[in-house]
Amino acid sequence: MAVGTRLAFLAAALSVAAALAKGLFDRRQRKDVLGDILARIDVLRSSPDASQDDLDYEFLSLAAYEAGQGVESGEGGPFGAVIVRNGDQGKEIVARAHNMVIATQDPTSHAEIIAIQKACKTLNKIELSDCEIYSSCEPCPMSFAAMFLARLPRLVYGAQAEAAHDLGYDKDHIADAIRGTSKFQKTTCVVKRILHPEVAGVFWKHRNQVQVY
Ligand SMILES: [Zn+2]
Repeated sequence: MAVGTRLAFLAAALSVAAALAKGLFDRRQRKDVLGDILARIDVLRSSPDASQDDLDYEFLSLAAYEAGQGVESGEGGPFGAVIVRNGDQGKEIVARAHNMVIATQDPTSHAEIIAIQKACKTLNKIELSDCEIYSSCEPCPMSFAAMFLARLPRLVYGAQAEAAHDLGYDKDHIADAIRGTSKFQKTTCVVKRILHPEVAGVFWKHRNQVQVY
């Protein structure tokens, strides 16, 4: 093998090793960041002087950490969510999640949706009225609707939706389309309602069988 080729191989091997070492370092750093946030939350939870604002800030830090995980793992966009339950022992974390749209190839795999699903599963119920949700970014209409359906009484979020728009997310501005504010209204979705008797008939036919939740 020519000397030049050997050197090229050596350089390539070194660059792979450096990338692996950097990956390990980044992972360890992120683990430290998570540990620090959880430790700060523990301190606040056991401190009688801790204010709601202090706790809100740290739970949002955790949502921001999850947002970073979404990108670093390549699983989705930079969005994270945390659900906290107001239990007998104070506020406890019941779910945390990041956007998984890329990993699942599912455009509805938003952090808030996954966090709600996890929290309901963990608590074994279909409403979260004793919980609160922290979202790294202002939720999209789908996620906000899921919060409403889950009866979450409180939302704390960090970045405004416009920050996500600037990155290229929600480029069709569905929030504005739904709000009807029209400044960014660019959706091309045509909405039509049909007065179909069988649709109402389904409700009427099963009115005594349904389990309202
Ligand atoms: Zn969403």
